[in-house]
Amino acid sequence: MATASSLSLLRGPLTVRALGFVRASNTRLPHSLPLFHRAIHYRRSYVSAATDEEASARLAAATADTGAPTIFDKIIAKGIPSTIVYEDDEVLAFRDINPQAPVHVLIIPKLRDGLTQLSKAEERHTEILGRLLYAAKIVAEKEGILDGFRVVINNGPQACQSVYHLHLHVLGGRQMKWPPG
Ligand code: 5GP
Repeated sequence: MATASSLSLLRGPLTVRALGFVRASNTRLPHSLPLFHRAIHYRRSYVSAATDEEASARLAAATADTGAPTIFDKIIAKGIPSTIVYEDDEVLAFRDINPQAPVHVLIIPKLRDGLTQLSKAEERHTEILGRLLYAAKIVAEKEGILDGFRVVINNGPQACQSVYHLHLHVLGGRQMKWPPG
């Protein structure tokens, strides 16, 4: 029997995100397990996944300003394969390897020019920033999601940025929720 204090564990945004995690990971628990224990297990699983994600993001941030090439440099150089959706002289758009929606495309500047993250933007970057945003519209059009799509930039460890080469995420093809996690 769940007590009032134990029930409080089930409230709040983490619970909602925990259920999302369960769907994503296809975690299976025996149906014989009481609902309360299943909820606690799901919550623990989610917290552990979130912690991993945050730890990786902190690790990535630690090397962000060394100027070291990232995985995206290899993708630009076609040294590793990617599914390119759109490309011009200045930007490259390719499908995310770990899609969070039916359409999940990353758009990056081909020349990083100090733009490891949005917070490093300077006046001289305004042209490329505009091009990236315009490319998001082109990608949405090509992918047939113009009636509803989301553009995301994760900036820094608290936003779980994991690759330090500025990129826009273009997400669509399903109903989006708000607030985001
Ligand atoms: P961030 O977490 O920095 O906002 O986003 C980085 C994104 O890059 C993640 O969504 C991740 O799935 C994607 N990603 C990481 N490595 C690769 C890769 O080798 N190929 C592709 N296509 N996407 C990648």
